[in-house]
Amino acid sequence: MTGSPSMVGRGDRPADATATGPADATATGRIVSAAGPVVRAVGLPDLAVNEVVRVGPAGLLGEVIVLDGPVATIQVYEDTTGLRIGDPVVATGAPLVAWLGPGLLGAVFDGLQRPLDRLAAADHWQLRPGVVAGELGSALGERRWRFEPWRSVGDVVGPGDVLGVVGEGAIEHRILVPPDWRGRLVALEAGTYRVDEPIGRLEGPAGAHELRLAQPWPVRRPRPTAARRPTERPLVTGQRIIDLFFPVARGGAAVIPGGFGTGKTVVEQQLARWSDADVVVYVGCGERGNEMAELLATFPELVDPRTGRPLLERTVLIANTSNMPVAAREASIQLGITIAEYFRDQGLAVALLADSTSRWAEALREIGGRLEELPGEEGYPAYLPSRLAAFYERAGSVVALGSPEREGSITIVAAVSPPGGDFSEPVTQASLRLGATLWALDTSLAQARQFPAINPLTSYSLSVGRLARWMAEATGGDWLAARAAALELLARERTLLDIVALVGADALPGQDRVVLEAARLLREVVLAQHAFDPVDAARPPAVGFALLEAVLAARRGLEQALAAGRSVEAARADPLLDDLRRAKRWSGPDVVDRLRDLAARLERLGHAGETGQAGSAATARERGP
Ligand code: ADP
Repeated sequence: MTGSPSMVGRGDRPADATATGPADATATGRIVSAAGPVVRAVGLPDLAVNEVVRVGPAGLLGEVIVLDGPVATIQVYEDTTGLRIGDPVVATGAPLVAWLGPGLLGAVFDGLQRPLDRLAAADHWQLRPGVVAGELGSALGERRWRFEPWRSVGDVVGPGDVLGVVGEGAIEHRILVPPDWRGRLVALEAGTYRVDEPIGRLEGPAGAHELRLAQPWPVRRPRPTAARRPTERPLVTGQRIIDLFFPVARGGAAVIPGGFGTGKTVVEQQLARWSDADVVVYVGCGERGNEMAELLATFPELVDPRTGRPLLERTVLIANTSNMPVAAREASIQLGITIAEYFRDQGLAVALLADSTSRWAEALREIGGRLEELPGEEGYPAYLPSRLAAFYERAGSVVALGSPEREGSITIVAAVSPPGGDFSEPVTQASLRLGATLWALDTSLAQARQFPAINPLTSYSLSVGRLARWMAEATGGDWLAARAAALELLARERTLLDIVALVGADALPGQDRVVLEAARLLREVVLAQHAFDPVDAARPPAVGFALLEAVLAARRGLEQALAAGRSVEAARADPLLDDLRRAKRWSGPDVVDRLRDLAARLERLGHAGETGQAGSAATARERGP
């Protein structure tokens, strides 16, 4: 036999055949009721929960979700319009799988891994004609790939061992022994192959396996790893408020809740473009098609600053937009995380960006409603928190199975769209318990067009301590101290603004007006970052940190000016502060040095006429070796 039962398919059908295709039928039943995406069928005695079935004359892809005596309840992932009572339902013996192999990068899939082609000048995509959901050839295409083996005939290999590589755009795509196969290689040959052609053969205790460039994996089952190993590295995003204040660890999870128009999609797309992940899996779940289209329209032009290659080459896009069948939303999330695990297992840092998990939860609610389940909070099914947890648990930083040793990670960044921006609703609350980093988007900041509208007083990162050493190295300074000083400044500003609202700013003592001025500079220069500004869209942590230090120096300079008898207003008018406001758009290789020099001069703000050389020397002394 060639199949591994736990891989895909029951019994001895080949694991790599189009296991979910109608031709693999083991039994045929018939529909007894249909309500939207939920269909009930009888006459399929050997079904298992989570088994894929083909529904109706068109063989629509469905999945068994409940078995109750002879009645199977099936959620159908494709449009069910036109189904009739008595239509056939065919069992496949296989769970829902993702096809993993060369051809994923740069692709745009729907939630069932069918490739989508963008219609010219339109804001939606179309399935390629003749594409069948769940089929390998459909998912990964006909292209041929040059395979270079790393192993030889006679080698004994086990789960996750690297068999060889295929060059795919920016990455060296490692072809791995599937996680539950082991044995002796009786064939393995360099060559140019389609993903479904045999590249070699393995003989093991469980029989012989045909090796191919692509392997299937059930989307609901986490891919196994050798060990979990937390990293002390952040996912660097190029966004100052994230990297400097609320970083997310590689292998961690960040939650971005925000009301409509607060910038969730922009943050996700900024991360898709600028984060330092090796591979980005972007799941557009239930969002408007035109937003995904925008992403696609701008993506092909973008170049990865690290590799000089098109960013698309490291990206997998999964689009299950609001006009597509609701049941496929969940599939799109599971497909995305399974693809992310596959690249993680190759030893890569993966970012899984999901926009928005609320739309997925709404799909669960809709399906749950049709099942007449007892609803939980706000009509969501009672299992919502455990479903969300199962998703977040697939983030992590791991040692992959097999040799050579590889470490990889999946960082999840999940947008949440609470209705009315109210974070007390169930999806936001459940998500907050699962992610260690919160970027809380604030409607009033967005209305004031302060972008990114991440509220620095309500956001948090529980990974700050763990990331401190890496950040200190990357920024070349005392990151923890600067971060704390800035957050304290913003907290004091918040208190003072309440007073100003009552009595006006003029009534405040000079010290407090310095705080307000410094906090304003901090917001304007460091926190605000325009996503569409060619220079400022993404900055390395070292540049952001130098800007932050310049603002903190300006604060000290303003305090000294006050102490030296200058009025806050006069000091505020100092042209050096205009330089500081412009400095966020400085670029070039010496930008950090120039910012340090500016900081040194700002430090001397109190000493009118003394800014310049003397100031630089003073700051250099203060900073120490
Ligand atoms: P949401 O997904 O939360 O509904 P969007 O991400 O679509 O919101 O953002 C709404 C609008 O806010 C964007 O079209 C853009 O004009 C503006 N915006 C959000 N973030 C930024 C940013 N970092 N820089 C500039 N504009 C932004």
